[in-house]
Amino acid sequence: MKKKIVITIDGWSSCGKSTLAKQMAKALGYVYVDSGAMYRAITLYFLRHHIDWTDTTEVNTGLKNIVLQFHRNEKSGQSEIFLNGENVEYVIRDLVIAEKVSDVATIKEVRTFAVAEQQKMGKKKGIVMDGRDIGTTVFPDAALKIFMTADISVRVERRFKEMFEKNPNITIEEVKNNLEMRDYIDSNREVSPLRKAPDAIIIDNTNISMEQQLKFALELLKAICS
Ligand code: C5P
Repeated sequence: MKKKIVITIDGWSSCGKSTLAKQMAKALGYVYVDSGAMYRAITLYFLRHHIDWTDTTEVNTGLKNIVLQFHRNEKSGQSEIFLNGENVEYVIRDLVIAEKVSDVATIKEVRTFAVAEQQKMGKKKGIVMDGRDIGTTVFPDAALKIFMTADISVRVERRFKEMFEKNPNITIEEVKNNLEMRDYIDSNREVSPLRKAPDAIIIDNTNISMEQQLKFALELLKAICS
């Protein structure tokens, strides 16, 4: 498959979007972009700088001072996000950020800023981007669009395991409440709500392995590229 395309992966919180996106990027030699990390980094900036995000002037001033970049970590081979030159890949995964990020992501100015950056990254194609509005708003003409879903209990368990490693005080209830709250806000906001694009293909990975999901996604790609 010589022709490089844009692949979008949207879906609910913690249903394995980033795992599939990273698998596909690795298999294809594509760039992987975690758009959620951008909203998380913006939220971190707003919290650190006490930006009142109900005030559009403060939001616009804040956004003018934000530079987001992704750099590859040579040791892990993973792409990591930098906020104004600082690696924030780890800190943005905290529950403190997860509790606020969906509110920040409802703001029109924030989305306009993030979407413009994301579209720049996709100019050269050869990219897999995951998020909530990638197939609907960021790259509506993407050649392959995937919409992922999984049972809430499976999603909670996965996210809990991930977060427990960093914070052993976290409870299952906190994780479940956070996922449900984010899904609600993300799918009910006015600007670019989480939706399956009409031409997206659904992958429900409740009962399939990571290998099976990759195989399925690569078969989809083969079918559209042949
Ligand atoms: O993907 P992740 O769970 O890290 O995303 C964090 C939050 O960022 C989501 O819950 C959502 O509120 C927001 N987001 C978004 N649009 C995207 C990606 C993420 O609104 N494309």
